[in-house]
Amino acid sequence: MTAPSRYSCQEVVEKLDEYVDRALTSGEIASVEEHLQRCAECACEYRFESNLISEIRAKLRRIDLPPDLMSRISQMIREECDKEGE
Ligand SMILES: [Zn+2]
Repeated sequence: MTAPSRYSCQEVVEKLDEYVDRALTSGEIASVEEHLQRCAECACEYRFESNLISEIRAKLRRIDLPPDLMSRISQMIREECDKEGE
């Protein structure tokens, strides 16, 4: 049994969409969860993103969201979370 690998914030942010989508392996999920537990900023981003993404997807179920829209939303969320941390 191997301990989950430690992700950096960058790695977690990159995997957050897939995490919300449950598109990761169980090892990756464990690593993301481990990081979310000890990193308030990524936990904040995850909270926003999971709410937002499920809301958007519920409304636009049959439409593929353009990737640049999702990265702009992630950027917005990150700025919100940075503000919250001050
Ligand atoms: Zn982090």
